[in-house]
Amino acid sequence: MALIREPLPWHAGIWRQLIAMDERGRMPHALLFSGPHGLGKQQLADALVARTLCANPGLTACGECHSCSMLAAGYHPDLIRVAPEENKRQIRIDAIREVNRAVSQTAQQGGYRVIVISPAEAMNVAAANALLKSLEEPGEKTLFILLADVPSRVLPTIRSRCQHWSLAKVPFDVCEQWLSEALGQEEDAYFWWRVSGGLPQLAVTLATPEERALRHRIHDAFEQLVRGAEPVSEAARLDRQAIDAILWYGIGWLEDLIRFGLSGNREALHNPDLEPLYRQAVKNARVQDWFKLLDYAREQRRLLSMGTNPNPQLILEAWLVRWSALLRS
Ligand SMILES: [Zn+2]
Repeated sequence: MALIREPLPWHAGIWRQLIAMDERGRMPHALLFSGPHGLGKQQLADALVARTLCANPGLTACGECHSCSMLAAGYHPDLIRVAPEENKRQIRIDAIREVNRAVSQTAQQGGYRVIVISPAEAMNVAAANALLKSLEEPGEKTLFILLADVPSRVLPTIRSRCQHWSLAKVPFDVCEQWLSEALGQEEDAYFWWRVSGGLPQLAVTLATPEERALRHRIHDAFEQLVRGAEPVSEAARLDRQAIDAILWYGIGWLEDLIRFGLSGNREALHNPDLEPLYRQAVKNARVQDWFKLLDYAREQRRLLSMGTNPNPQLILEAWLVRWSALLRS
């Protein structure tokens, strides 16, 4: 396992601010890093974990001390990572009780104790309430790092006890070099940056053969809908396991459609290759109808993320039926 010492290049500015706070002895005891999936929050957190636990930190963790070696080997007694159990969506109170127990004792290596909770919005109410006490009275040399894709879903009482860093989408010129290297020279970095909506790590994922094939299948299904295909049979051809990705793409396309319908601006499109589809679609339906469908899709995606909606196949069908009605109206 490699030791993560540095944040991604577009987080260099935040990193400098964090280090400056630490050097002035002003590091808060709880940080919340928020921003959409694919921005590199985890790498920022990992670099900070390493530097905080390091015995000889400079601008980054030294990479050579005992603490750094333990982290590189994959285990550090003063680091607790809290995440949902396998195949579960929620972080439950038992996991937080263990955090509270550990925080009430001194660090084994005599330095900091670091607790990383990710995704923080996965804590159920009982877990979040159990965490409050530790956040209020964390004790000496304790650092909580919470990561959240959607910070509004973190309990306000938790949010207000953390110093909140909202990480922004990354302009192309800031991540161009990194993205070109990550994708390989033969790939169109600008295209994948646009498709990802300014999320460089996500752009790399979307350009993998499997994700590319999924995007192609969804695109094809929508073209069939425009041509009058039955939405239920198109839904059956799509992989319902990929429902979240399918909704994510659909949401991006709707946002594109709305932009295109309102301004006709092609440069602002996230999916420039779908312009013919958009042209067809804006002819057929009104912008407020696209807004309604967008709300519907966001809500379905939210319900899915909470694990409360059990039938992806039905969501997929209902979703395509609505699209099809607009595409053909
Ligand atoms: Zn070190």
